[in-house]
Amino acid sequence: MTVWLLGDQLHPESHVLDGADRVLLIEATAFAERKPYHPQKLGLVFAAMRHARDALRDAGYEVDYRRAETFGDGLDAHFDAHPGDDLRLMRPPSHGAAERLRTLVESRGGSITFVADDRFLCAPEAFDAWQDGDAFRHEAFYRWMRRREDVLMDGDDPVGGQWNYDESNRETPPPDWSPPPVPRFDPDDLTRETLDWVTARFDTWGESAGFAWPVTRAEALDALDHFVEHRLSAFGPYQDAMVDGEFALAHSLLSSSLNLGLLGPEEVIDAAVGAYRRDAAPVESVEGFVRQVLGWREFMRHVYRRRMPDLVASDLLSRSRDLPPLYYDGETEMRCLDAAVGHVYDRGYAHHIERLMVLSNFASLYGADPRELNEWFHFGFVDAYHWVTTPNVLGMGTFATDVFTSKPYVSSGNYVDRMSDHCAACAYDVDATTGDDACPFNALYWDFLDDHEETLRGTGRMGLMYSHLDRKDDAELSAIRERAATIRNRAREGRL
Ligand code: SF4
Repeated sequence: MTVWLLGDQLHPESHVLDGADRVLLIEATAFAERKPYHPQKLGLVFAAMRHARDALRDAGYEVDYRRAETFGDGLDAHFDAHPGDDLRLMRPPSHGAAERLRTLVESRGGSITFVADDRFLCAPEAFDAWQDGDAFRHEAFYRWMRRREDVLMDGDDPVGGQWNYDESNRETPPPDWSPPPVPRFDPDDLTRETLDWVTARFDTWGESAGFAWPVTRAEALDALDHFVEHRLSAFGPYQDAMVDGEFALAHSLLSSSLNLGLLGPEEVIDAAVGAYRRDAAPVESVEGFVRQVLGWREFMRHVYRRRMPDLVASDLLSRSRDLPPLYYDGETEMRCLDAAVGHVYDRGYAHHIERLMVLSNFASLYGADPRELNEWFHFGFVDAYHWVTTPNVLGMGTFATDVFTSKPYVSSGNYVDRMSDHCAACAYDVDATTGDDACPFNALYWDFLDDHEETLRGTGRMGLMYSHLDRKDDAELSAIRERAATIRNRAREGRL
């Protein structure tokens, strides 16, 4: 029996490896030719696979490492060497993937058994038994998971007496604050060779120099230790902040390792909770981090599983514009957007508030097709996989679906001004809505509300926003529409 590990299933102690005679890894490349993936994303996946191959061999496994165009080609080679082999594989979360892989294997005379995916704590059967109907509500899921996994609990109550500390987690750092250190994992020879091959072989988007992501289990564990020791304490209060020139602030930077399987969710949660238990980190930081890993990450996986393929099929707001060129070339005078796109281009990463309130917010207000934005996130981010980007971008990011959100997360420039120091140095005036130097977010925001009134006015918690819109007279609304049209034209022409 052979265990087949996909490129994002690399945990060396995964249960799927129990009793394995042989391990199969197929380094398939055809997918990377279909989109302009970030070189650090491709380099990370392929380097992590190659390091996992070597680590598994060192641990005594017989490893078949196949480099091929497609999984089909890799399986041809595998079954030529091992006719009729029985494969065991963790069920992949991507929609339809298990069925496609079963067909590929069985058509080559082999058999395949799928086992549970231990990169998540909540199994599909458990979620489906808990979930009542089709109203997906994260807060209820998160509290259920806290109790079920006994994380940050004091009997049946949350430690500290609160389920969340949102009020403490929306601070901006003082001007003299220096972000805690960020670990660097400089590429070794194998990673360097892989990155060189990626940049020579594929048409990529983004910078490969400066690659510093963990590619091995040992590096991922170091990254976890480093986060808990140096950044977890500051993570909570500043998790929604943006600071000019800083890409990481106190964010964990662990998502790429979690989503590759180099780290498991349980050990990551245990490490953070351990810091709280020994008074090394405050509860608002630890709870905020636990909420992301135990709550949101698991929730996204199940929303995706339950609502695909419909999830990507439609847009509640029927937007169809191409994503403006600034998402590809980074050319804009909008300082917040320039910084966020630059972070993605340079590292394949931007933190969650840049993703939500700058990159997704602008694309939503501009009227870009959410599916193109989803693809942009998918090829541009080192931690992006369809199961995580699709619900995040289409639900939270753009309100293309209301399956788990009751309102769009859109805002004027006011939010960026409150949570960052970008506006003070921007070419645009965050306090102006119309006029040549007015912050583009402002007119687009009001125009968005006006344009989608029929769908949004009665939706969830939109009453307050519409009460502000209602106070604008015809002349003001007309000027806003004109300014919004100018901004869209300029963005489309690359002159924003
Ligand atoms: Fe962004 Fe507007 Fe602020 Fe400039 S003024 S940084 S465009 S929010």
